[in-house]
Amino acid sequence: MVCGEELIQPEECICLRCLYKLPRTHNFKYPDNAAERLMAGRIPFERIASFCVYAKKGMLPPLIHQLKYHHHKEVGILLGKIYGEDLQGSDFLKPVDVIVPVPLHPKKEKIRGYNQAEIIARGLSATTSLPLSVGNLIRVVYNPTQTKRTKTQRWENVKHIFHVKNPGEYAQKHLLLVDDVITTGSTMEACATALQGCQGVKISVATLGEVF
Ligand SMILES: [Zn+2]
Repeated sequence: MVCGEELIQPEECICLRCLYKLPRTHNFKYPDNAAERLMAGRIPFERIASFCVYAKKGMLPPLIHQLKYHHHKEVGILLGKIYGEDLQGSDFLKPVDVIVPVPLHPKKEKIRGYNQAEIIARGLSATTSLPLSVGNLIRVVYNPTQTKRTKTQRWENVKHIFHVKNPGEYAQKHLLLVDDVITTGSTMEACATALQGCQGVKISVATLGEVF
């Protein structure tokens, strides 16, 4: 899916050479990394980490495009699994109790057929053995694409779009919010706003890509 070379067993989606070249950030090892500084002073997150740099002409955009728009769920599972292997045993992952993918609006999920964040989360869950929670954090407002909006417009757009059905389920839990890409952090902030109603909740974030 990156270089176009034919795969050989046991490769899936991405050849070993490309996998090795993925622009990993390893930023889960570094508290106060760029993503954490981006969110500093906003809603308190425990930790934030991204698997790779999402550079426009880099390796990650075509992979995420295949996952989101061409039904290649297997690439999301694969990258989630590899990231899970990286995170396994780290101080970043140790306190986490449950993985929570950022939900899509049901209407959007129906159109796409799946939630790409949930696919990535499934891969993460497979290699970390952490449980996955789907359906408790929900997106209640259908909002159109964010790509042409400014940072402030994005935030206005997402502020109240998430809701927690049963706050008790996340009480005293450390959640790992999972999404494909983090850009301004406004989606994560909106999720966290909804999650703050859960008593004693702690929130960390893991995404496949970071754009900033
Ligand atoms: Zn390749």
